[in-house]
Amino acid sequence: MKRGAFFRFLAVTLILSLTLSLLLTSCKKYGRGASLNGGGQTAGGTTAGDTSAGGGTGDETGGETGGETGDESAGGESGGQTNSSPEYQPYVWPEDQLVNYNGLVEHLFFHQIIAYPELAFDGDAQEKGFDDWMVTVSEFNKIMESLYEKGYILVDMNDVWVEKTDENGVAYMAKNTLRIPQGKKPLIISIDDTCYYQSYMGNGFMEKLVLGDDGEIWAWGHDPQGNEVLTQELDIIPAIDTFVKKHPDFSLNGVKACLSLTGYEGIFGYRTNTDSHGLTPEQEAYRQSEIEAVKPIVEQLKKTGWYFGCHTWGHIRLDSSRYGVTGVAADMQRWQSDVGDIVGPTKLLFYPHGGRPDGDDWHKTGEVFKYLHSLGYRIFASVGTQSFSYIKKDISAVICDRLHPDGTTLRHLREQYLQFYDAKDVFDYEWRPEKYGMDF
Ligand SMILES: [Zn+2]
Repeated sequence: MKRGAFFRFLAVTLILSLTLSLLLTSCKKYGRGASLNGGGQTAGGTTAGDTSAGGGTGDETGGETGGETGDESAGGESGGQTNSSPEYQPYVWPEDQLVNYNGLVEHLFFHQIIAYPELAFDGDAQEKGFDDWMVTVSEFNKIMESLYEKGYILVDMNDVWVEKTDENGVAYMAKNTLRIPQGKKPLIISIDDTCYYQSYMGNGFMEKLVLGDDGEIWAWGHDPQGNEVLTQELDIIPAIDTFVKKHPDFSLNGVKACLSLTGYEGIFGYRTNTDSHGLTPEQEAYRQSEIEAVKPIVEQLKKTGWYFGCHTWGHIRLDSSRYGVTGVAADMQRWQSDVGDIVGPTKLLFYPHGGRPDGDDWHKTGEVFKYLHSLGYRIFASVGTQSFSYIKKDISAVICDRLHPDGTTLRHLREQYLQFYDAKDVFDYEWRPEKYGMDF
């Protein structure tokens, strides 16, 4: 091809691909607009199981919340708004300001945060669970400010350990050397149960994630008076986005946090879950529309530094003897089809209630652990009193514990969390019930 012809060819190709991508984007935009204005919450889902604020008390089978909706118009209002998804540009340090880091990587985990404490702490049967396992928006903001002031920087859990292969072709996990800005301390944040469970509705939490006209992630829900709310402050996911926007040097390579998902009520407020009793064609059509509606949310989260982990489909207690490999396999396969197929592959597994499989013994590599490993999971996170981690020698896997900023530790473990924040300064004296006591 002659030079001139080549450049004409190049120009035509460019124009064609631009047109195509514009077309694709406008399709996406339409989908997005449809999911905005939240509207068609699934309504009427019976919330079996897990009222436990994740990790809490409730029964773990997580029961089937029928997607018995069908008639709801899947997000209703097809607004067709034009969203211009802004390019996400993380802060980048010059190479000469980065240093090697091989030390301990701290790991904190949260749940959804309490937007309206007057609804969470209203004396009902769920109050204690919310007090134990959640923090309020005010507490969360203070914790974030303190973490930032103390020099913590968010890192991706997938970067902390890597899988390698030895000279015999055997895979093993190894601690990675992180390159972090001088003076900073790496921190993993994970957030469990970001599914916007129906059991939380009316209890002071936001109810789903949506994309705003600006193309950013917002949370949608209701205030105590029943008015619709669209917010980037009252929900942990957009709140972290906002915090990193304000403090770009709180994030290494733009990373935010890991969202640890169950499947039994779908994800991010979208009822993408199947039902053991089967779904009518209408219910299945509704489920499919929820899957389509959540996809742009997942894409935007991925583009802006979020990543995903598995928290089992039914929030099942893996330390319970009632699930053998067969029971766990049924649950995990369901997670894969209801959640994994939407969010993509992950090596991260977060044990519900912190319960480790095969007798809750972290030394052990039992049948259930081997099964989970065979699915591709390599990093297995529990809950503990320090950011403990251990690379297993007999199988390519890491086990680790996470600390948990919440009511129980704010009230009773102030000393252990002083390296992150002082519970005395953080504690929500205005709203947390006095009756549960505190040690300071
Ligand atoms: Zn949980």
